[in-house]
Amino acid sequence: MIGGLDTDHTLCTMLSDACQAVVISVDYRLAPEHPFPADVVDSLAAYQCESLFACGIDPFRTLGEIDAATRRALYETAAAQLQANLGRWRRETLRGGLAVYGRERQGCRECGVGIRTTKQGGQGRITWWCPRCQS
Ligand SMILES: [Zn+2]
Repeated sequence: MIGGLDTDHTLCTMLSDACQAVVISVDYRLAPEHPFPADVVDSLAAYQCESLFACGIDPFRTLGEIDAATRRALYETAAAQLQANLGRWRRETLRGGLAVYGRERQGCRECGVGIRTTKQGGQGRITWWCPRCQS
């Protein structure tokens, strides 16, 4: 296995410049240990976790348990975070980086409690969350 986020950054930048298009490079689980669609799910997981944190939503609630206004705020937050990070090498949803995604056992940037992870769903998608801010 060769390549990764760091080694492919220059290539992604060149492709973006040549095509005058946005190129999004993200890390994800690899096959064959993690078959499709784990790669796609992982690519979107960062903004799922970050938008849930920003809206203070428990990631274990079902969509039906969330009222329409909160769902709308969640979608708008996720869209704004994705838009704000297009074309950026380091994703950022809070000053200095991400709030929860990829920050297992580190202190929450808002309350200091350790960020937790768990696998969810049939695909074993990893969710990062703050047990205090998202309760
Ligand atoms: Zn917190």
